[in-house]
Amino acid sequence: MPWQMGSHALREAEQQCLVRDANEAAELLNVALIMETKRRDLRCECGDGACLARVSMTHAEYEAVRVYGSRFVIGVDHENPESAWVLSENARFGVIDVVAGDARHQVLTRNPRHAWVDDTTQDAIGQASLEPERIN
Ligand SMILES: [Zn+2]
Repeated sequence: MPWQMGSHALREAEQQCLVRDANEAAELLNVALIMETKRRDLRCECGDGACLARVSMTHAEYEAVRVYGSRFVIGVDHENPESAWVLSENARFGVIDVVAGDARHQVLTRNPRHAWVDDTTQDAIGQASLEPERIN
C-alpha cells in the first residue's frame, strides 16, 4: 500500500472531505437564491471532527476555493501547519492548500467536482500544479 503517513493525517483528510461534501450540498441547494454579494455561513473545513466553527463567505468566494481539489476553507487560525499551507486569510476565513503527500492525494481523489466536469477537470488540476505540487 502506498500510505506512508500516520493515520492521523488520513483521518484529518477524511474529515475534511466529509465537511467539503456537506458544504457542496449546501451550496447546491442555495445557489439559485444567491446574490454574489450576500454572505452565508458554511462549515469550517479544518479537519478537526469536533470543530463547529462557521465561515461567512459569498458564493463567489466559495467557488474560488472549490476550483482546486486540494483547497479548503477554514476559520481563522484553524490550519494544521503539518499538512497544509495557508494561501490567504481575511477577517472571516482562511484558505488552505493540503500539501502533505498522502492527504493531498486523498482530497484530490475525493474531489466531488470530478463528477461534475469532464475533461476540464484535468485543466483545473493542471492549474493547481503550477503552484507547489509536482507530478512525478
Ligand atoms: Zn475548524
